[in-house]
Amino acid sequence: MKIFAFPDPAQWPDLLARPVQNSADIEKKVAPILAKVRAEGDDALRHFAREFDKQDLDELAFSPAQLAAAADQLDESLKQAIVQAYQNIRFFHEAQKQPVQKIDTMPGVSCWRKSVGIEKVGIYIPGGTAPLFSTVLMLGVPAQLAGCRDIILCTPSDHPAILFAAQLVGVTKAFRIGGAQAIAAMAYGTESVPKVYKIFGPGNQYVTAAKMLVSKEGIAIDMPAGPSEVAIYADDTAIPSFIAADLLSQAEHGVDSQVLLVSTSKKLISSVNITLSSQLEALPRRDIARKAMENSKAILVETPEEAIDILNQYAAEHLILSVADAEEVSEKIINAGSIFLGNYTPESCGDYASGTNHTLPTNGFARAYSGVSLDSFVKKITVQHISEEGIKILGPTVEAMAEAESLHAHKRAVSIRLHALGS
Ligand code: NAD
Repeated sequence: MKIFAFPDPAQWPDLLARPVQNSADIEKKVAPILAKVRAEGDDALRHFAREFDKQDLDELAFSPAQLAAAADQLDESLKQAIVQAYQNIRFFHEAQKQPVQKIDTMPGVSCWRKSVGIEKVGIYIPGGTAPLFSTVLMLGVPAQLAGCRDIILCTPSDHPAILFAAQLVGVTKAFRIGGAQAIAAMAYGTESVPKVYKIFGPGNQYVTAAKMLVSKEGIAIDMPAGPSEVAIYADDTAIPSFIAADLLSQAEHGVDSQVLLVSTSKKLISSVNITLSSQLEALPRRDIARKAMENSKAILVETPEEAIDILNQYAAEHLILSVADAEEVSEKIINAGSIFLGNYTPESCGDYASGTNHTLPTNGFARAYSGVSLDSFVKKITVQHISEEGIKILGPTVEAMAEAESLHAHKRAVSIRLHALGS
């Protein structure tokens, strides 16, 4: 890793900048794909499956027989792992349910908020280069808990682990459709694919551009997505080989992955650099990881305060705190997608099975966005009830405000009731 020692705060923005992505070119490629699916429905989906995925698809949906066979095609140990992860993710997300709280803001004036699952959601599961069945759990579990009526899944992969996980989370219909055309199918609906109200899931640049384009047409999406990233803050209590392993677990995602190490210890950074090289060579995906590591940075700072300022400015998707007082430091973190504390909490555990969600804001969006949670799959509807006593108490306030805004019909809707009550 390239080391940047004691950079001046004026240099931080350049040091922490993510590579600029040229989305305009991709959007130009994706817009005609969306238009063709909108106009020609299933025929367009079959056309793009042939063009991009070399697939001749008569049936776009996975058949009940394919779904039923999935469990038998998996090793028992993988099935158990998927079920364990499912249970942990479900346990953590279930606790996000909140009881309805009725609040009397004044005597006779009751207000509350109820959560309702979004009726129709679509989840995209990447599958071009690796079948990301963990993402089925991360998106499907909160959709299931939220009570979404239709959970539509699209993926270019027919990996049995995806189909097994899809059944665990209660996916209503699963389709073998990938890329921008899958996003278009869920956004507009086709003869086979139902139209949904909100689309979730990561994917390559075509998928991401398609999500951005349909979101401009009024379809909700989970969040803007960029390449995955990790920042690690480590001191001399950290174990260099663990740090190197965590950095590489991020770097193997893709050549555009972002990896950052911040430390007050020059010794720690040097030790990480030494063990990094040997661990890298042992990886099957070393070519990808090596390219990602070429863009990675180690920043040596004077003080823990400076480290925390840099981390808050960077707003990492994943932040690992391998420092003596990790929990105390985490209290000072105000920008991050998900935080991992101590020497024995690798990001991989959050990626798969500890219980938290792995769909997180990248590219600095953690400054304003949260990761996916149960809330992402529900709408909150407010409800109120005002009694005769309540309208007598609240009515004059509303009359005065409506009068001042010159909205006389608003005022009258109150006055007519007060009058009926003899006030
Ligand atoms: P994918 O499912 O996202 O995309 C594959 C589809 O892309 C194919 O089905 C095909 O239809 C389409 N496609 C391929 N070439 C095309 C072309 N030239 N023009 C138009 N469409 C084309 O799978 P993938 O490609 O393996 O990508 C997975 C992506 O998901 C990676 O980029 C990875 O970084 C990303 N990812 C991100 C996160 C995150 O949290 N940020 C998590 C997991 C995965």
